[in-house]
Amino acid sequence: MDSSKYVYLDYAATTPMDPRVIEVMNEHFRESYGNSSSLHSIGQKAAQTLVKSRETVASLINAERDEIIFTSSGTEADNIAILGVALKNQDRGKHIITSTIEHHAVENTCKSLKKRGFSITFLPVDKDGLIDLKELEDMITDDTILISIMFANNEIGTIEPIKEIGEIAKKHDVIFHTDAVQAFGKVPINLTEMNIDLLSASAHKLYGPKGVGMLYIKNRGIREDRGKYIEPIMFGGGHERDMRPSTVNVPGIAGFAKAVELAKEEMVKEIVRQTKLRDKIIDQVLNNIDHTYLNGHRTQRLPNNVNLGIKFIEGESIVLDLDSEGIAASTGSACSSKSLEPSHVLLAIGLKPQDAQGSLRVTLGRFTTDDHVEYFLEKLPPIIDRLRKMSPLKIN
Ligand code: PLP
Repeated sequence: MDSSKYVYLDYAATTPMDPRVIEVMNEHFRESYGNSSSLHSIGQKAAQTLVKSRETVASLINAERDEIIFTSSGTEADNIAILGVALKNQDRGKHIITSTIEHHAVENTCKSLKKRGFSITFLPVDKDGLIDLKELEDMITDDTILISIMFANNEIGTIEPIKEIGEIAKKHDVIFHTDAVQAFGKVPINLTEMNIDLLSASAHKLYGPKGVGMLYIKNRGIREDRGKYIEPIMFGGGHERDMRPSTVNVPGIAGFAKAVELAKEEMVKEIVRQTKLRDKIIDQVLNNIDHTYLNGHRTQRLPNNVNLGIKFIEGESIVLDLDSEGIAASTGSACSSKSLEPSHVLLAIGLKPQDAQGSLRVTLGRFTTDDHVEYFLEKLPPIIDRLRKMSPLKIN
């Protein structure tokens, strides 16, 4: 397959690496291969790269350099945050609040705690995928130690009211974690304006390498009034302030930092450009193809996310037909798209199981052009027509 001719519209699953990131990583693989804990100059060069990279990644969200710990993924960051807070605070309480539309990295971590005696509230969302702030506040009890609610949803793109959630968490003295894997580098996040204690991100969603992530830990995990509020869940050498032991992946982290630097430079321009393309797809599909609708909030959504409900056919068939035309799209989250179960996110926003099977996620990115969008809009209607003619699900 000639990937340069392929129209890639699955940026929420993962992004191609930016060539400028690859260049930086290559340099580090060749020149800066030392162990960042070694005393010799090759090791110290790697240690300096680590310091600089931490500074760059922190600066995107207005954090302090030492509040960032590098991890091997967004999933690992979510696990360290949720399990670390649960273990440290279990004497204070064993209640955790999360939402019904979290990524499996949060959902299944919370479910694992349920088996260990914690009680988990899965907060419902409305038809747009938004949580209800009053309901959140009503769920908090004396036993609540953690709220974990995602910044933006990976399937339907809805952006949650994070600032307001942070205010509620602060008012009730509850720790607040947000999985910002889909939002980080795509929309502005300013931690000085939001009461977030822990935030997860992942490099491969913003044109960086796979297998590199980070966890922001406010005040390095120490609160003046209460001391430590998180403890390690992995044990080994003292890397990353003891929170993520293992020889540090310096070339990968340098690539992450370069990706963040590029996101800082291009974010404003890309938000405008991608929002226009996003809205063009939404408007054209909803206006020109019968029995289609939008999943997720119309405006409070990621600039690159379109999630279409297409009645009377299955999303998988559309994805396969698009693929044969050289277009990569998705039915929902990449992690669950191989399972036959309807998406838990689409069920949570109130879709019937048969409608949840008919979703198509199209996600845009830095390398998406107007021509790509035109090509997609040209190819989609005949595919839907053909599949509907063959479908046993009948239009009334
Ligand atoms: N959280 C969200 C919202 C995601 O979209 C993803 C990846 O799809 C993850 C967590 C997991 O990140 P990683 O692939 O780096 O483990």
